[in-house]
Amino acid sequence: MMKRAEKRLARQIKQRSNVALAEPRLWSNKSQQSVQAIWAKEYRDIHYHCSKCHAAAVFSAQDQKHSYEIKKAYIDQKRRLCHDCWLESLRIKQALQDYANKWHTQKNVLRTDENFLQAWLDLVLLHKLYLSRKEDTARINMIKRLLDALQTSKAIADTLDAAIK
Ligand SMILES: [Zn+2]
Repeated sequence: MMKRAEKRLARQIKQRSNVALAEPRLWSNKSQQSVQAIWAKEYRDIHYHCSKCHAAAVFSAQDQKHSYEIKKAYIDQKRRLCHDCWLESLRIKQALQDYANKWHTQKNVLRTDENFLQAWLDLVLLHKLYLSRKEDTARINMIKRLLDALQTSKAIADTLDAAIK
């Protein structure tokens, strides 16, 4: 049986280890087609700053191994957010999915629902602070156009009201 001191030392080495063996044969098919599949031998800790809150963060060698070999993430997928911001971005993404589902089933009613559109717009803009995606930009433009149209028709109605009075 390992002595307690030895165990502690082993644990310390494991924690300190900033290198992990890369096994490209375990990557997703798409990753295996990348040039990195030819030369990748190991993962090394990647130090970066969160693109949202600027906190220092580490994409550890072990985390990389897990992401690419077990979760089959694409090998070119890099981390840009710290752990907390990443969790928050997931929460926002889930809420956005709910909005998209609602929109999908009740588009005809919701296209004139200013509260819904404004809340949706705020959420997409918030999400964009975490991860900027093409879909977000397209969504933002669509919702802004709908809100503009609503405001224009409201302005016309107000003008007509004023003219009648
Ligand atoms: Zn952060």
